[in-house]
Order: sequence, then structure tokens, then C-alpha cells
Amino acid sequence: MFKPYNINPGQKCNLEKFDCLINSPGIEKADALVRISENAATMAKLARRLYAENSRAILLVLQGMDAAGKDGSIRAVMRGVNPRSCQVYSFKKPSEIELDHDYLWRVHHVMPRKGNIGIFNRSHYEDVLVVRVHQLVPEKEWRMRYEQINNFEKMLVDNGTTILKCYLHISFEEQRKRLQARLNDPEAHWKFNPQDLQERKRWTDYRAAYNEAITQCNTDHAPWHIVPADRKWYRNLVISELLRGTMESLDPQIPPAVDDYSGWIVE
Ligand code: AMP
Ligand code: MG
Repeated sequence: MFKPYNINPGQKCNLEKFDCLINSPGIEKADALVRISENAATMAKLARRLYAENSRAILLVLQGMDAAGKDGSIRAVMRGVNPRSCQVYSFKKPSEIELDHDYLWRVHHVMPRKGNIGIFNRSHYEDVLVVRVHQLVPEKEWRMRYEQINNFEKMLVDNGTTILKCYLHISFEEQRKRLQARLNDPEAHWKFNPQDLQERKRWTDYRAAYNEAITQCNTDHAPWHIVPADRKWYRNLVISELLRGTMESLDPQIPPAVDDYSGWIVE
């Protein structure tokens, strides 16, 4: 019901065509919050089973412009899941040692272990986004990355990781409001980075980079999901529904006991 936008593999993505506000009317905020709580409780149980099963993993990739709500949606959607089986990893500017390796090195290194849910706040997609917009490597080099990323993700999927890639779709105006709100609130200044204003000036370049990344890397094995993100509660609902649905279809099973303990007594 409250699904992200999806496009067919091979089809060209044009983000301008997707509504940032809502794509499926008929739900109020209060009902959405109830549903998110119910999903969280269900996901907590499923995450426990996934952990016990210890054979498959889930990776949720969150991408979006500054203030699109990458952190906020993690907080809202994942509450209730045992932190033991769920790790968030935020990708920052690569360190010196990371830059001394190929760009996927630091990513592969932090993939969720079997039984776990990994959440990427930014990801290897930065290597075809910020890297492209700021020309951090020559075009010839980042152009090759789409195929490399598809192959990398295929390898991960073939080895038991389900990959969900969400693009949090906010409008230029909504980003302005959120960045301004950060500036107006001293308690939120830590979230504000003057560089965010520079990146905002490159909105059109980022839009082109996102359109191409989504077009090129929207595969059957790891599709992109475009999440309307101008309303926080709606964004959270869509991600929560997507993750819950994925976990239900994985249907993780608690493994059978290795021995027959019937009749055993602890004295
Ligand atoms: P934040 O998400 O606000 O903590 O900011 C992290 C910053 O790191 C963003 O400006 C990203 O664009 C930047 N970043 C992440 N990955 C890369 C990368 N591979 N190359 C360059 N900058 C990156
Ligand atoms: Mg930031």
C-alpha cells in the first residue's frame, strides 16, 4: 500500500517526475505512527529469528541530499530491534588509508555479518555522486563504477545478503527549510555543516548524478526504491513497510536444536 516508487531495470530515471510529498494518499500521520510502531515490533521478532538462523543478512542503503532524513529514518524505523543484530554505518569522506585502496574496500569491510541487518547512511554510491559532482576522479574512472557496483552487489546478493537501496527524495524547498531550521536552533548546530550550503548550490549536478546512478544501478538483484521524503512520517512509513515486507518474505527460521534435549533436567 505505502510503497516507494520503483522503476524497471533499464528504464531511465527522472526524479523530477516523482512527487516528494506523497505517492499514496489515504493515511493520516497518527495512523502512520501506529503502523510504524507495529512494524517495529514485528521487525524486532523477525530480526531475532534472522540472527538465530545465522545464514542471511540484510543491507539497507540510505542515500539522499543533506537533510533528506537518513539519520531520522533510521531512528524511527529501527527502534525496537536489538542493537546486537543491527549495525549502522555512516560513510564520511574517505580516510587516507581508505583512499589508498579501491573505493569498495571500505564498504565490503563493513557489510553486515550473517544474521544481521546493516544500515548504510551513505554508501559506495557516494563514489558516483559526490565524486562525480566534485570531479574527485576522472570521468573515465567513475563511469566504470556503475558496472563495478552492479557486479559487487550481485556477488553480495548471491552470497546471501538482501540489498534494499532507498533514495530519500526531498525537494529543494524542503531542504531549504530543514537547513534553515538547523541554523535557527542552537541545539541542532552540530548537524549543520557550512559545506551543506555549497553542496546545495550543486543541486542540479547532484540531481543528474542521482538520476544516472539510479538508472545504471537499478538491477533485478538490487533495485532502487524512491521514497517521497518531504514528510518525515510518510518517509518513515514507506521505509518501515519496505523493510518489514522484505523481512517477512525472507521468513527466517530458528534453527532446529542440534541435539534432542527432551527429558533433560537442569539440577
Ligand atoms: P554527513 O553525512 O553529513 O556526515 O557528511 C558526510 C560527508 O562525507 C558528505 O559530505 C559526503 O558527501 C562525504 N563523503 C562520503 N563518502 C564520500 C566519498 N567516497 N568521497 C568523498 N566524500 C564522501
Ligand atoms: Mg551533514
